[in-house]
Amino acid sequence: MSDKPSKDFHENITDRLRPDGRKPDDFRPIRIEVGVIKRADGSAYVEFGKTRVVAAVYGPEPMHPRHLADPEKAVLICRYNMLPFSVEERKKPGPDRRSIEISKVVKDALSTVVVLEEFPKCMISVDMVVLEADAGTRVAALTAASLALADAGIPMREMISAIACGRANGQIVVDLTKEEEDAEDAVDVPVAMSSLTKRISLLQMDGDLTIEEFEAILDKASKSCVKIHAMQRDALLKKYKKEGEEVDIDGEY
Ligand code: UDP
Repeated sequence: MSDKPSKDFHENITDRLRPDGRKPDDFRPIRIEVGVIKRADGSAYVEFGKTRVVAAVYGPEPMHPRHLADPEKAVLICRYNMLPFSVEERKKPGPDRRSIEISKVVKDALSTVVVLEEFPKCMISVDMVVLEADAGTRVAALTAASLALADAGIPMREMISAIACGRANGQIVVDLTKEEEDAEDAVDVPVAMSSLTKRISLLQMDGDLTIEEFEAILDKASKSCVKIHAMQRDALLKKYKKEGEEVDIDGEY
């Protein structure tokens, strides 16, 4: 990390509009729905602009194959996958290095909140499918996976919300598009944060930032996760709140 602020950093305090007309702190249009796949035990759909992801959860169910079962807790299996038509240049179907890496970081993040000890010898499977990609797919997948687990009734200590923030075209911005990620000075920082304790369960970085820029990005990511958490909560309430029922969950599930 270099310690010299980039020459454009202070421009960020202006409200210079981004290539798609957004202000630095604006999300793309976000849509979040719970219970979109009938056959899964839990599911969710998350859309950040043109990035669209579905997550489905099965389990807890007995571990298969049995010799891989953990006698102390459930095994969490996470699979992130991009459909061939989700990206500009048709993608070869099936897993690749990138999808294996994303599946791992998503699993690591979810493992911090799912109460796996409640289900020894079992498995819980989370499948995340990218229908359309315009950057931010891992954070959309993680946001959807967290909701799908809640929809499946799997006990979690708290909900995980995620967003990518970063630098693009001399500004610190929220929810980067692929066009912004491709900017010459771009640095993409996907962040996942839990709702109550504000613990960070995913933080990646693919470039060079000053401490000042990094702190500004973390601050924006933290504020963004609070907003995304409210949208996740609304999506769950939309499915589960009975007509006329008063719910006072105060951010807790
Ligand atoms: N992408 C692509 N083809 C690929 C992988 C990625 O076109 O095989 C695009 C896609 O739009 C993706 C973006 O590159 O969202 C950024 O990918 P990255 O690895 O940074 O992960 P993401 O931002 O999606 O979490």
